[in-house]
Amino acid sequence: MVKDPEAYKTIKVPAWVYINAKEAELALMRKGVGRLPESVLNPTKCPICKNELNTMKIEESGGKTYLLCPNCGYTQPKFEGTMEGIALGTAIGMGLVHLLNTLFGNGRQAQPEAGTG
Ligand SMILES: [Zn+2]
Repeated sequence: MVKDPEAYKTIKVPAWVYINAKEAELALMRKGVGRLPESVLNPTKCPICKNELNTMKIEESGGKTYLLCPNCGYTQPKFEGTMEGIALGTAIGMGLVHLLNTLFGNGRQAQPEAGTG
């Protein structure tokens, strides 16, 4: 696991990714996280290897709570509270959690829509 999950790393993305990320950031600030599934906000199992996640408060990260996989090292913050001052990186991170859930999922939606079965 990385020592400080809040340490910044630089990535280069195409303009369309940046534009979509800014849009996602604004939407998160306006709408909050209420519509996002628990599998993104506060999962209990690792999206990659399905191991149980450990909850850990990391002092180096301002006492923020993280969910850590002891098997494969997967790390994500527990997205909770008002999500005040959501940053672009948070929006991208949430999108990647959702992508990993889909890629490593069992092919079913986390929250099936009513009336489709
Ligand atoms: Zn794992």
